[in-house]
Amino acid sequence: MSHTRRNLLIGAGIAAAAAAVPATSHVMWNGKDFTRKGYDPDPLTPPEGEMAWSNWSGTERSTPVQIAVPSTEDELASIIQSARRVRPVGSGHSFTGLVPCEDTIVDASRFTGVLAADAESRTATLGAGTRIRAAARDLDAAGLAFPNLPDVDVQTLAGSFSTGTHGTGRELQPMHARIEGFRLVTAAGDILDVDGTTHPDLFNAGRVTVGSLGVITQYTLACDVSYNLTRTVWVEKLDDILARAEELSHQHRNFEFYYFPFTGYCAGISHDIFEGEVTGRAAGEDDETLDGLRELRDVFGWAPWLRRQIAAGSLPKGVVEESSDAYWKLLATARPTRFNEMEYHIPLENGLDCLKAIIKAIETRKDTFFPMEVRFIAPDDAWLSPFNDGPRMSIACHAAVNEPYDYFFSLLEPIHRAHGGRPHWGKLHSLGHEDLTALYPRFQDFCDLRKSLDPEGKFLNAHLARLFGETFDA
Ligand SMILES: Cc1cc2nc3c(=O)[nH]c(=O)nc-3n(C[C@H](O)[C@H](O)[C@H](O)COP(=O)(O)OP(=O)(O)OC[C@H]3O[C@@H](n4cnc5c(N)ncnc54)[C@H](O)[C@@H]3O)c2cc1C
Repeated sequence: MSHTRRNLLIGAGIAAAAAAVPATSHVMWNGKDFTRKGYDPDPLTPPEGEMAWSNWSGTERSTPVQIAVPSTEDELASIIQSARRVRPVGSGHSFTGLVPCEDTIVDASRFTGVLAADAESRTATLGAGTRIRAAARDLDAAGLAFPNLPDVDVQTLAGSFSTGTHGTGRELQPMHARIEGFRLVTAAGDILDVDGTTHPDLFNAGRVTVGSLGVITQYTLACDVSYNLTRTVWVEKLDDILARAEELSHQHRNFEFYYFPFTGYCAGISHDIFEGEVTGRAAGEDDETLDGLRELRDVFGWAPWLRRQIAAGSLPKGVVEESSDAYWKLLATARPTRFNEMEYHIPLENGLDCLKAIIKAIETRKDTFFPMEVRFIAPDDAWLSPFNDGPRMSIACHAAVNEPYDYFFSLLEPIHRAHGGRPHWGKLHSLGHEDLTALYPRFQDFCDLRKSLDPEGKFLNAHLARLFGETFDA
């Protein structure tokens, strides 16, 4: 099989239609500024003696007294003991306020790399600050692999495990499901080696923690043997892909789709095990599709029927990409265009109904254009895993980084909640202690365990205090 790729470009269709439509019919729309109030692309300037931190999308910021980068567990323990407040940070790719701290942010990036790998038992121990891509590449060199990956691979292991980060695949669990043990440095400065036998409750709580139980320095993981995948991307009508979604999710190892709002079209993406000689990933720029969708909104957002017609005429149909490569070179891609995101995980049986309601709601707003992502995730049993009561469908809505996203909360979140959704811990949501206690059977157990490890709330910030029903005084 050779690799192929046709880009999802709609720019030419827009130009042709724009020339044919009288300018007077859209004069109001053309002057529109889509920038949200309060958008500030400039980095924070910290006061003297403080440092600046912000997350990937720039919506969460703080000016801590220090961003500590310890290189030994003893050093880490003494930093934790002497600080008033501590928040661990990975690569800052969470959209929620998990990391901001005005005292001490701890960056675990010096706890990195493959510390041990055993191809026979298929286990490996890695530094918790290792980025996913480096971990996947180095495990591959040892003949080992992650069973799945998220969309991007710049996150750290600790950051992604701690928020329940996942990829897509009906039979594939979230990333943290392969943790067999971890090393935790607690608020008291204790260094604990935790697994299901030595500390069963802490093991169940500690795989997804939102960084609230202490700083994790290493993980031992159950791995797969290295494997290759074949990737297929195709364009299909929304109604057709909705009708086939259930079947496609069974048919392919990894299946997901993106819906392009106001077009009636989706991009389906599948990955399956590939045994032949690989071709490598077909070159191409996903951001060109995004630019086209944005331009379509900018020029024809005022006329949804025309927008739909232009998209239908311009988008290529059928298969647009076929590639094969090592799994870790295909599953994650770069995301150069920044955005904000809300993702809810819906019980599978409610997933398609929820998705239809979300699409209907999104399309009441003519300013939306960012593709929505739909994925499938298999269950696991960590106490704070959103997937711990059965398989779920994840529905993710995005807004360009400089555009409004307040409607995620007012328009979309009530629909997700009405369908039994649980939010991604790292993505925008407004839930607090009471909501979460109702959603997670072991939530109060988690809160009790957290309090016993950190009675003074050293690892709390305002966001975590809201999640765990604690008062917080910065
Ligand atoms: C472009 C983009 C694409 C994404 N794609 C996906 C996707 O496909 N699937 C998905 O599920 N999610 C996805 N996410 C969300 C992302 O995977 C999570 O938010 C993840 O937590 C980010 O990891 P991080 O290393 O940046 O951690 P951070 O955001 O820095 O931290 C996340 C949490 O981990 C804690 N933490 C970090 N290090 C430690 C440590 N050493 N010990 C204890 N706690 C620690 C922090 O305190 C915090 O609570 C995406 C986000 C972005 C911006």
